[in-house]
Amino acid sequence: MSGNENGNETGNDDRPATDGGTAEGSPPTGEEEGGEESARFAPADRVESVPPSGIREFFEVAENRDDVISLGVGEPDFTAPWPARSAAIDSLERGRTSYTANRGMPALRRAISGRVTRYDQSYDPDSEVLVTTGASEAVDLAFRAFVNPGDTVALPTPTYVSYEPGVRFAGGEPLPVHTRHEDDWALTPEALREAGADEADVLVLCYPNNPTGATMDADEMDAVAAFCREHDLLVVADEIYAALTYEGDHQSVATRPGMRERTVVINGFSKAYAMTGLRLGYAMGPEAAIDAMTKVHQYAMLSAPTTAQHAALAAIERCDDEVERMRREYDRRRRYVVSRLRELGIEVSEPGGAFYAFPRVAELAPDGDARAFATELLEAEGVAAVPGTAFGAGGEGHIRISYATGLDDLKEAMARIERFLS
Ligand code: PMP
Repeated sequence: MSGNENGNETGNDDRPATDGGTAEGSPPTGEEEGGEESARFAPADRVESVPPSGIREFFEVAENRDDVISLGVGEPDFTAPWPARSAAIDSLERGRTSYTANRGMPALRRAISGRVTRYDQSYDPDSEVLVTTGASEAVDLAFRAFVNPGDTVALPTPTYVSYEPGVRFAGGEPLPVHTRHEDDWALTPEALREAGADEADVLVLCYPNNPTGATMDADEMDAVAAFCREHDLLVVADEIYAALTYEGDHQSVATRPGMRERTVVINGFSKAYAMTGLRLGYAMGPEAAIDAMTKVHQYAMLSAPTTAQHAALAAIERCDDEVERMRREYDRRRRYVVSRLRELGIEVSEPGGAFYAFPRVAELAPDGDARAFATELLEAEGVAAVPGTAFGAGGEGHIRISYATGLDDLKEAMARIERFLS
C-alpha cells in the first residue's frame, strides 16, 4: 500500500520494515526485482492456455520486407466515408467529449434499430440494443454474460480467430464443428450432430463467414435454426459482414421462428463502413440478454467511444451510397479472384459474402501443408496469405486470401502466384 493511497503526502513512512523480503534500507537489486516481476505476472491458467494468434505470428515475417503484397489483412482498404469522418470531427469541435449512456447514444440506438429492419430484424432501441467498442467487445460480452465455467460453446470451423480464445477467457469449452469445402463451408445439422453440438450450451454463427466467405441460404439457415430449437441452444450470431453479401439476401438466424428469444445478434461498423479504427459495434437481443451484457459492459467499458458513436450515426444516416460503392468493388474483386484461382487450377468454393476466399492448396503444397505453401509463397514471391490452420481445425490444406486489396495489387498477386506454381 502506498503512502498516497493512505492520504499520506510524505510517502512511505508507514511502509512495513521489510518489503518483499528485502531488509530495510537496502533497495532490491534489479535481479530480485526481475524474478519477482515475472512470478507476479505469471498469466492465469485460462490465459496461458490460449496460443498466440496464428495470423500475427505469420505476419511478423512479412513485416520485414517491403515488396510484399498482403492478401492477409481482414480490414477494408477503403477510408471511412467522409460524412462519418466529418460527423466525428464536428462532434469534437462541439466539445462532445463525455461518456454517453452506457448503452450508447439514444439516437444511435434508434438508427441501428431502424437499419436492421432490412434484415427483418426488429429490436427496441431502449431495451434491446447495446452499442459496444467494436463487434469484438460484443462477442466478448456475450461469452462473459452467458457462458458458465465448463459450458460448451460450439464453433463451426474454420472459425474467426477470436471466438475460441474468447470462450476460454470466459471459462467455457470450445467445441469445433467441422464444415467442409465440399459443402461450400455451409453448416449442416449433420455436422452439428456429428460434433456433439446437440449437447452444447451455445452455438456461434458467423455468416457471411470469416475466413471462408461462406453464406447460408434460407433453407440451410432454417435447418440450423431447427437444430438449435430442438436442442435448446443459445446462439451468438456475429453478422458483421451482413452488408457485404453478394449472392442472395443476408440470412439471419434470429428471424426464424422461435429463434429471436434465444439469439444475440452482433454487428458493427468496421467492415461495411470501413471504420475499423473507430471501434464501434453493437449487440441486439431480448431485453434479458441485453441487460446481462450491459451489466458487464458498464463495469468493463462504461460506454463505447463517443466520437465514434457520432460517426456511426452519420454512417447509418448518410453513407448508403458509399457502402454500396464499396460492396460493388469487393464483388468485382471477388469475381476476379475466384476466376483467376480457378484458371490456375486452384479449387475454391464461391464466397457469397465478406471479403475472403478460402482456396484449397493441399495438392500444391509439400505434404499438403498449407503453412509450408504460404511460407514458400511469401519467401519466393512476396505474396502474403494466411494459412488455413490459423482458423482452427478444418482449415488444413487451405489458405485465406483477403480481397480487401486494390484490384491492381490483386492482379499482381495472382501473376506472382501463377509464377510460383510454375
Ligand atoms: N467478427 C468477425 C467475424 C470479424 O472478422 C471481425 C474483424 N476481423 C470482428 C468480429 C471484429 O470487428 P470489430 O472491428 O468491430 O471489433
